[in-house]
Amino acid sequence: MSSRFDTVVIGGGIVGTAAAYYLAKAGKRVALVEKGRINGEQSSRNWGAVRTQGRDPSEIPMMLDCLKIWRSIETELGENIDWRQQGQMRVIYDDAMRERSESFMPIAREFDLTTRLLSSSEVADLLPHYNAQDCRGALFTATDGNAEPEKVAPAFARAAKRLGATVMEFTAALSIDVWNGVVAGVASEQGRLGCETVVLASGAWTSRLLKPLGIEHPSLWVRGSVGRTGVLPIDMRKLVVWGKCAYRQRPDGRVNIAVAEDGFHDLMLDSFVHGFKFLPLASRNWRNLRFSLGKPMMRDLMGEFADFTTHRTLDPQPDWKGLKRAAGRFAEEYPSAGLVHYERAWAGYIDYMPDELPVIDAVGRPSGLFVAAGLSGHGFGLGPIVGKTIADLIAKGRSDYDLAPFSSQRFNRS
Ligand SMILES: Cc1cc2nc3c(=O)[nH]c(=O)nc-3n(C[C@H](O)[C@H](O)[C@H](O)COP(=O)(O)OP(=O)(O)OC[C@H]3O[C@@H](n4cnc5c(N)ncnc54)[C@H](O)[C@@H]3O)c2cc1C
Repeated sequence: MSSRFDTVVIGGGIVGTAAAYYLAKAGKRVALVEKGRINGEQSSRNWGAVRTQGRDPSEIPMMLDCLKIWRSIETELGENIDWRQQGQMRVIYDDAMRERSESFMPIAREFDLTTRLLSSSEVADLLPHYNAQDCRGALFTATDGNAEPEKVAPAFARAAKRLGATVMEFTAALSIDVWNGVVAGVASEQGRLGCETVVLASGAWTSRLLKPLGIEHPSLWVRGSVGRTGVLPIDMRKLVVWGKCAYRQRPDGRVNIAVAEDGFHDLMLDSFVHGFKFLPLASRNWRNLRFSLGKPMMRDLMGEFADFTTHRTLDPQPDWKGLKRAAGRFAEEYPSAGLVHYERAWAGYIDYMPDELPVIDAVGRPSGLFVAAGLSGHGFGLGPIVGKTIADLIAKGRSDYDLAPFSSQRFNRS
């Protein structure tokens, strides 16, 4: 197959499908290639939190506009994605958490967010079944929300298709063709796709696509785990709560519980290449870091992750110990929930950047290459606007936001 498009988007997660949708809406001829199934990796595996709360100030203007997208997304895409705007709560148990919560308040005031500090009795009012015994208050943002990760990227992909985009599953992009410093196409499993612009929305795999072009993208894979309970006889008022674990009740009454506090890093070759760039982040979070040296490293040494066709979908093992601990903590916080056991559990590899900020950028050399990746554990909420921003950069040649903090060059400066 040999075809010509204006833009080829690589990656069918929330960022790639949103980019394809907004590009098609702007009248571009778009192909979206996905090495596995649409929404197979991070974008379907996350907790579903959509938050301004706790974000870096550089992301907040985009996130505020993204909330507008979330509010109208079901009408825009013509599908139900279980969007609920009922708030995000971070429960305070100790002085460290209080200090961390209070430190966000000047940012909240600067951007006029609805964030406020709640007393423990206000927490108990909001969460009727919650055992507030250890609670010393909470940071709460009423206008944050949540949605069903399994539904959003597929809805964007279907909407993009209706607007004429070509969506190709089980089609890995193998490399990016460059002629005289300009993007000329993508070599894919289905043949060459000629195009003027390429969007890398390839999540955890982005550094592997950029490396042959001499562009450094120092992301490391951090494993996040989630378990889903059966239907529980409690009402969590549709909030996303970070207590002693993180949780969100689905519309069907089941609760997704996450090992929230731990960053579990499976050591791989990139850990040694890029690890030193993560030292400041690691030293701030050293208590919560877990490392493991095992199968992922073996697979990396055998070259499995250098090939985009061996792992159609990254499907790491959940951290069962952490999930068991989280279920115990949840049961303490909700005694009336009864026995908490998981009906299913899963994990996903998060593409973390050293400063926990994404890359959203027109690379420059080669020209025509755009990167939207490295969303560092909070890209589900931001994903739709990241896709729209990349589409604006391509279709209008500009963005409404200051993208300097998200430059692809920022790690090459020191
Ligand atoms: C357990 C967990 C919990 C999280 N919780 C939250 C949360 O509550 N809120 C929040 O905002 N964020 C959360 N996140 C982060 C969020 O899920 C991600 O930031 C976001 O989904 C990233 O979207 P993406 O489209 O960039 O990447 P992905 O969804 O990973 O999509 C990238 C796609 O690119 C494809 N691809 C890669 N290379 C190629 C290639 N060569 N050819 C073709 N296709 C390719 C991959 O197969 C993949 O499908 C969480 C993540 C995890 C794992």
